[in-house]
Amino acid sequence: MIRPHDHDPGAAADWSAHALQSVAAAGHRSGGARRAVIESLAAQDCCRSAQEIFDQMRADGRRVGIASVYRVLDLLVGMGLVQRLDLGGGMSRYEPALPDGAHHHHLVCVDCGEVSPFEDPGLEQALEGTAARSDYTVVGHDVVLRGRCPGCRAA
Ligand SMILES: [Zn+2]
Ligand SMILES: [Zn+2]
Ligand SMILES: [Zn+2]
Repeated sequence: MIRPHDHDPGAAADWSAHALQSVAAAGHRSGGARRAVIESLAAQDCCRSAQEIFDQMRADGRRVGIASVYRVLDLLVGMGLVQRLDLGGGMSRYEPALPDGAHHHHLVCVDCGEVSPFEDPGLEQALEGTAARSDYTVVGHDVVLRGRCPGCRAA
């Protein structure tokens, strides 16, 4: 059964605390932009582009340049705290890399670019079986389904 991915505020709060701590432990000064980007990512239930994160921070009245948003995102990706996704549309999207392998996958509309997160336990089980039958030590997987969203299909 495919089900929509629900935002888990508890896991998101744990992740943002962990991310702030890791950045500080790595000896990076905890700048305002860093905290703001981490909080913005934790507040979303799925991925966002750097531009979307920047726009939201501006709307919240934060004076931050888009270059520092990119710098913070690169740092977080480099530390394994954030996952960079290339789902088309000519831009990268970013979402928190949750501990314990917790994750979801994405449906992407080929017309409007909308991204919908989903979870499917049956798919995870099938992929675990594939991993076990391979001669690789599998550490992760990506799954993207492309198609037309309900809105575009109706148009
Ligand atoms: Zn997502
Ligand atoms: Zn669409
Ligand atoms: Zn999966």
